[in-house]
Amino acid sequence: MTTISSSPRAAHAPSALPSRLQHFVDGRWVDSADGATFPVADPVTNAPYAEVAAGSAADVAAAVGAARAAFTDGSWPDLPARVRARVLNRIADGIEARDDRIAAMESFDTGLPITQARGQAQRAAENFRFFADLIGSLHENAYRVGSTQLNYVVRKPRGVAGLITPWNTPFMLESWKLAPALASGATVVLKPAEWTPLSASLLPEIMAEAGVPDGVFNMVHGIGEQAGDALVRHPDVPLISFTGESATGSTITANAAPFLKGLSMELGGKSPVVIFADADLDRALDSALFGVFSLNGERCTAGSRILVERSRYDEFLAAFAARAQAIKVGLPADPGTEIGALVHPEHYERVLHYVDIGCAEGARLVAGGARPYHLPDGNYLAATVFADVTPTMRIFQEEIFGPVVTVTPFDDEAEAVRLANDTRYGLAAYVWTSNLRRAHRVAHLIEAGMLWLNSHNVRDLRTPFGGTKASGMGQEGGELSIGFFTDSRIVHLTLGDPHTPRFGLPATEQSPPPDDDQTAK
Ligand code: NAD
Repeated sequence: MTTISSSPRAAHAPSALPSRLQHFVDGRWVDSADGATFPVADPVTNAPYAEVAAGSAADVAAAVGAARAAFTDGSWPDLPARVRARVLNRIADGIEARDDRIAAMESFDTGLPITQARGQAQRAAENFRFFADLIGSLHENAYRVGSTQLNYVVRKPRGVAGLITPWNTPFMLESWKLAPALASGATVVLKPAEWTPLSASLLPEIMAEAGVPDGVFNMVHGIGEQAGDALVRHPDVPLISFTGESATGSTITANAAPFLKGLSMELGGKSPVVIFADADLDRALDSALFGVFSLNGERCTAGSRILVERSRYDEFLAAFAARAQAIKVGLPADPGTEIGALVHPEHYERVLHYVDIGCAEGARLVAGGARPYHLPDGNYLAATVFADVTPTMRIFQEEIFGPVVTVTPFDDEAEAVRLANDTRYGLAAYVWTSNLRRAHRVAHLIEAGMLWLNSHNVRDLRTPFGGTKASGMGQEGGELSIGFFTDSRIVHLTLGDPHTPRFGLPATEQSPPPDDDQTAK
């Protein structure tokens, strides 16, 4: 990888940015086999800052070959868990030592406000520490059948894992897959999102410093339909862990089907925030604002549909719109910025198109809806609030993935649940009420993988993560992630004499039938 000492055009660019990003295969930086590259730009200027190797099937094959050799011939899968745990902790050390650098790169590349990018780097380190602790303390089960039979389980890494990640909070989401995969003893090929490849370029040196053997961690950059697709269709990759859009998840599921691969799908969302009249409105207001406008609204668990009980609707809406209008939109590198620049002009146009759709559908625009006047360039959009949104509108149904939120009144609990469930998605939901019984009742009725009662998106790493309906297939998080990257082998053995019915002997010489609990199933 070559570097430039300073950027001639962007005052907000971190120092010494790479001008060329390569694949990392078998411990070495490499260009694409055919030399192909694509440009990557930052969302403030939309000017290219680097050329990125564009991976093809040949590059994926080389990376999978290295990962496969490291799995079958290398030491990594068979290392004692505590040895792998030490390596994972050193990866976390390497991330923490580069905290400022990662946050600066992430903010520059994605447009996330720098204060929020810092949290992502810290969470990434925490992911490695968490899975280091988990793998060191994980136990495998044994089952005794009376005094005669023992069944025990050993967990084995499944092989080469393909990890495909999106552009929102890229470094954190890469760590979210890398940490459990490596902890489990898998070897990996990571395909980072093409719009935000920058922070991943730090991973090879972090891995090498931590002592990850060559071939265990491989990375192929490239376009999803090329590099990502080649990974999905490679026969030596038995597992694909994917985070991204529901439509892409559906394509990958179909393409992986002939290979019968293990799939983990973390997909899109359109999560409701249900605010009952008896809620602590001040806290609900803070949480609802943060829930949809943090991370530029480019957040899978964003509370992007706010449902408010009619008796407090006007009061809530007035306060919400006023606060949204006051949200500071600005340079991602400015510590005062609350919403930065949207990741890419194509995505920016898509989000703006939804603003037009909302207006055309007759929703009432009460905040934002346009580029802030003080930011004539870059992918900026003011915090945007649509009121009186009905469930038939597209802005109520479709994931916008930007700083745009809908607000809808409801009359009673049944209608609140009906509205909350009235989309194809089911990732997260947030419920605000001081009635504890109702809080639990509604939490059980809303179709979502994760519910937060009177709180926002805070999650212990031990808990499962994932959605239902079009928001995902299979949950990860904590031990579930280890379960995904490993197979269980169940070993059955007899402790005494096996009592086997003796076929083919005269009836007089046959043993008595075995006990029920010894019967082969
Ligand atoms: P995306 O689906 O466009 O791309 C995600 C990744 O898939 C990228 O690396 C891309 O190159 C790759 N890809 C695209 N087409 C592919 C194909 N045919 N085969 C293989 N790989 C392919 O998603 P995005 O726009 O990068 O990310 C935003 C989406 O991710 C939103 O829908 C968001 O809700 C979702 N997301 C979900 C979670 C979650 O945990 N549920 C977390 C973050 C983001």
